Amino acid sequence: MTNTGAFQILSFDMVRIPEMDEEVVDSITARCRRCGHVTTVNDGAVHHLSGGLVMECGQCSNRQALSNAGLAPAHTDLRSV
Ligand SMILES: [Zn+2]
Repeated sequence: MTNTGAFQILSFDMVRIPEMDEEVVDSITARCRRCGHVTTVNDGAVHHLSGGLVMECGQCSNRQALSNAGLAPAHTDLRSV
């Protein structure tokens, strides 16, 4: 699975916003590579950025900005399996 550096992405879901014609992350589960804690962020708790989001560990506050562009190819891979 996708390895972003600070986090190992375990799974995520994207939703399409019709008004924006853009897919955004609806929920994401990732394992922190610093402390090993698995954090799930979903729905209203996702810190959206323009074109991405901020993933933050629930235990050690390790955080990293993730781009949709970086996640989308992995999502395509999941669908094709
Ligand atoms: Zn952590």
